[in-house]
Amino acid sequence: MDNQPTVCIVGSINMDLTITTEKMPMQGETVLGKDFATYPGGKGANQAVAASRLGANVHMIGAVGTDAFGEKLLAHLKKEGINTQGMRTDPSQPTGIANIILSEDDNRIIVAPGANKSVLPDLVDKQKELIKQSDVILMQLEIPMETVLHTLAIASKFQVPVILNPAPYQKLPEALLAKAAYFTPNEIEAEAIKESPLFSSIQKKLIVTEGSEGVTFYENNSQQWIPGHPVEVKDTTGAGDTFNGAFAAEIANGASIREAVTFANAAAALSVTKIGAQGGMPTRQEVKERIP
Ligand code: ADP
Repeated sequence: MDNQPTVCIVGSINMDLTITTEKMPMQGETVLGKDFATYPGGKGANQAVAASRLGANVHMIGAVGTDAFGEKLLAHLKKEGINTQGMRTDPSQPTGIANIILSEDDNRIIVAPGANKSVLPDLVDKQKELIKQSDVILMQLEIPMETVLHTLAIASKFQVPVILNPAPYQKLPEALLAKAAYFTPNEIEAEAIKESPLFSSIQKKLIVTEGSEGVTFYENNSQQWIPGHPVEVKDTTGAGDTFNGAFAAEIANGASIREAVTFANAAAALSVTKIGAQGGMPTRQEVKERIP
């Protein structure tokens, strides 16, 4: 990219503890799985890595504990070229983790948020400069809602647009729906927005990701659809995160909504061809080579 666009992410960071298995355990059942591995994850950090690999300048505001997972995750962010000045190390909480069970045709995830609960409004206040300097703010809902609302208020003051990835699924406060520039739910999360009385006024800000089917969005008041790319699927964990990081990087770079959705749809398709939420996140070069 010519004029390095800047994306600031206020969000979660976890260590993903991933077990692959042939058979999902039923209630009360223990099964012998196949492989175990740890992967850096958390929606915030995943989206930060996606945006950074695609050439954006990325600031991450978030928190880890003082344990070994926290140290590893901070080192990993730095290795990915992400500015960690906005990261807090909280001695009172463990680093967030996600327990992921992965079988051929299913995945089950449980998250223990830990230090992500310490991403509070005061941390964002300390990093106001980062928000002010950014072209776009990208948030998800794995940190306290009060922080998401507070960040939105600061970003509005500085006239920096906010992309909200309303994941995981939850009912959204009206203040949130009123202020964000774009919402990027998957089909399930979109249902929570459709139920809101504000739905008709924010419909045009919706970019709904539909897995292998692609993406639906609005352009010039009319609904548009871009189909998904046919790829060999290995692990869909992190597809939405790749989409969001890529979309934010493109919007920060001044792309139109169609250009940003088209690019993010291609980047996200490549991300599902490898194991691990971040494992398949492509570079800009890889997107250009594989999905011209
Ligand atoms: P989430 O991972 O948040 O549930 P989706 O499943 O909607 O989100 O996936 C996000 C985006 O990733 C899709 O809109 C699409 O661009 C891409 N994607 C996901 N699954 C596939 C797939 N099987 N083949 C191609 N692209 C995919």
